[in-house]
Amino acid sequence: MEEPKLSTNALIVLEERYLRRNAKLEIIETPAEMFWRVARAVADADALYGPRSQVAATAERFYQAMAHLEFLPNSPTLMNAGTPSSQCMACFVLPVEDSLEGIFDTLKLAALIQQTGGGTGFSFSRLRPRGDVVHSTGGISSGAVSFMMLYNAMTETIKQGSKRRGANMGILRVDHPDVREFVTSKRDRRALNNFNISVGVTDEFMRAIEKGEKYPLVNPRDRSVWEHEDARRIWELIIQEAWDSGEPGLVALDTINRQNPTKHLGEIEATNPCAEEPLHPYEACCLGSINLNAVVTGPPEQRQLDWHKLGELVDLGVHFLDNVIDINHYPDPRIEDICRRNRRIGLGVMGWADLLFQLGVPYDSEEALSLAEELMGFVEDRAVEASVKLAERRGVFPNYPGSDYDRRGGPRMRNATTRTIAPTGTIGIIANCSAGIEPLFALTYTRRALGGRELKQEIHPVFLEEARRRGVLDDHLREHVVATGRVRNLPTLPEDLRRVFATALEISPEWHVRMQATFQRHVDNGVSKTINLPQEATPEDVESAYRLAYELGCKGITVYRYGSRPEQVLSLEGYC
Ligand code: ADP
Repeated sequence: MEEPKLSTNALIVLEERYLRRNAKLEIIETPAEMFWRVARAVADADALYGPRSQVAATAERFYQAMAHLEFLPNSPTLMNAGTPSSQCMACFVLPVEDSLEGIFDTLKLAALIQQTGGGTGFSFSRLRPRGDVVHSTGGISSGAVSFMMLYNAMTETIKQGSKRRGANMGILRVDHPDVREFVTSKRDRRALNNFNISVGVTDEFMRAIEKGEKYPLVNPRDRSVWEHEDARRIWELIIQEAWDSGEPGLVALDTINRQNPTKHLGEIEATNPCAEEPLHPYEACCLGSINLNAVVTGPPEQRQLDWHKLGELVDLGVHFLDNVIDINHYPDPRIEDICRRNRRIGLGVMGWADLLFQLGVPYDSEEALSLAEELMGFVEDRAVEASVKLAERRGVFPNYPGSDYDRRGGPRMRNATTRTIAPTGTIGIIANCSAGIEPLFALTYTRRALGGRELKQEIHPVFLEEARRRGVLDDHLREHVVATGRVRNLPTLPEDLRRVFATALEISPEWHVRMQATFQRHVDNGVSKTINLPQEATPEDVESAYRLAYELGCKGITVYRYGSRPEQVLSLEGYC
């Protein structure tokens, strides 16, 4: 079996967490064997709908796409498919009921999910506020944030023994009486260190800010009004905290629910940890990403997108992820039930910044937005078509009756949703491409020698190639790039090169948000994106980004001001 061509960083990641080990913890598979294990396990679902003889051909196609790093499923699939645990989903949302039993049931389930490498998101909005009565004990409640601390401690305790370090999303509605405590809950940087937090904002709240009005905080226990808050004061508090520490983010609950095709199942209250997947309570989702480096053809000066190949990879991705739903081992029957009934999948792209480099298009340009529109519009049409074709052979998703597709005479879909832009924090390293739709943080990255501690600075290969082709690559340029990671500020370099090879902090927040919003228009789940701000950015900059994201229809927003947080929940764990 020929081994796939993997970068050193990819091999390190695979060896540390992905390749199977025996009882003595020795690695017992190669990367090629890992891709085969996954390909076979996932292809096996074909036998549920047609002759078993077709499974081998499907497995071969899945294997080739993964081994050539053209398409990769999310980490839990790579780690677990075809193993006894076989839990393949990356994203979960669990309900937190307003009772001790409910809180601890969900805590246990979250622990089991995190053990398999899945991330968990919760809305704590159903919990009665701090100071409210507890009839059974005659005491008073310690409030929503105190229970988040409990969940945080659970993750802290189990993360050593898990496949990944564990990640949670905590969401609280802006009209919950504990909103102030929630918004400021990460002032102590060690508190809630295993949580990302986002405020669930409503259209009503956003309107109240505009008008300078008060809005009611409501006790979820009995729907009584607790008190009235000044919308602008809460908004300013959110902005100040986000400026200070990057959190809380926002989740636009009404936007999410308006666009949810399965409204007949009730409201969506929460998302997974990186906010790209709004889900119903107990729902989970498997993600997969197409590496855009794999769909570029032509010599350097005439590179173009290979639409035919992109289309084929979308077909393959939808097929793959639909199969995952059938072969997955679910950690709870309630999760299994809704996953099988909605068949929600999240196919997306990664390597967007690499693609723009290759095509010579600056990230912060109208041309890049048009290309994003065209590319994701194409993925949208093709993914819907692929899901409809699957439905012809395999049937529509069981919750189809009563869904928006059904009521509005839409397509007969196999899957309630098909598209997500994932962060691809680890699979991007495995595929050796830029993460999701993010710009590069620097034009250099760090490579660790296999088995050693030695670190080497590498320059982005497309930049090197382009600088060489244009005859401007010399020692001075190399030294500048290695020292600063960027070239926009280098007046000696031709203007067009400086424009194209932009990095995250050189791109204004407005362009970051516009890029996110453009992808969101063609994505039926959410888009993972960090709006990077330079250290000297002001709270007003954060406010403009938050407002713009809401106005442009983003389902959520996360900002990060350089240097404002010592460590992020989902850092790249020191590989990159
Ligand atoms: P990957 O590249 O490893 O497939 P992503 O970075 O795309 O994963 O993240 C996708 C989702 O996977 C996240 O939003 C979250 O739900 C889950 N996830 C990511 N990293 C972790 C982690 N360390 N622990 C638990 N869940 C995680």
